[in-house]
Amino acid sequence: MIPADHPRAKSLHTREKLVDGFRRNLVAAEGLIAHGRGEAFDYLLGERTSAQARAATKAAAAMLLLAKRPVLSVNGNAAALVPKEIVELAQATGARIEVNLFYRTEEREKAIRDELWRYGAKEVLGVGGRASARIPELSSERRRVDPEGIFAADVVFVPLEDGDRTEALVRMGKRVVTIDLNPLSRTAVAAHVTIVDNLVRAMPALVEQAWALEGKDRRALEKILADFDNKKNLAQSLKAIRSGNKRA
Ligand code: ATP
Repeated sequence: MIPADHPRAKSLHTREKLVDGFRRNLVAAEGLIAHGRGEAFDYLLGERTSAQARAATKAAAAMLLLAKRPVLSVNGNAAALVPKEIVELAQATGARIEVNLFYRTEEREKAIRDELWRYGAKEVLGVGGRASARIPELSSERRRVDPEGIFAADVVFVPLEDGDRTEALVRMGKRVVTIDLNPLSRTAVAAHVTIVDNLVRAMPALVEQAWALEGKDRRALEKILADFDNKKNLAQSLKAIRSGNKRA
């Protein structure tokens, strides 16, 4: 229904995917609102990937490839927008996939698991009784994680995560990689590598980088990480927003 020459065509397609995900019970109503916050930042970024987002993507791929027990945490928005890329990133990095919801219901967990299965995931952690471990210092259902997944992970990938949980994961000693369009969010600030870009652009790029770096020796990957500074990355991302990302 959306004309291809509409100036917001891509953005409108993404919205349609989310609304469809909402109707299929993958996405929570609150997830639609969270997307709106992301869209506002994307508008300011000129809906384009910045040079620093590309550098952060490379560092993110290196961190995932260097991990001993990487886990990709998947919420409803991620499952609705980039299910194929989540499965591909797990394949490229050897990471496990875990469903991890802010608004947890077993029905949604299963709907998300089934969607990931449809795209070829062999295993999906964190569903129902599997999420029996606790993130310390967090209250209610938000703290439940899989003892074989996020709880035991050394590197956790948490696209579009809430700040409390990201901070709690960092306190547990995890290395955290995120994708978040808001460079000022607590998640963006607390993470070790923050890709300030739209999930729908960042995930295909991250998969591509992971395949490109896969098989490189550890020292080359460690060098990529050593050269990356997340504070600088966030400061430059803010600059890109101020300039409408015209020069990137
Ligand atoms: P925090 O708790 O980290 O300070 P918040 O309360 O804004 O931030 P949430 O609403 O839980 O966080 O999470 C949504 C985050 O994800 C927001 O920072 C939003 O900008 C970002 N976001 C939403 N949609 C996208 C998207 N498609 N791509 C990238 N980031 C997105």
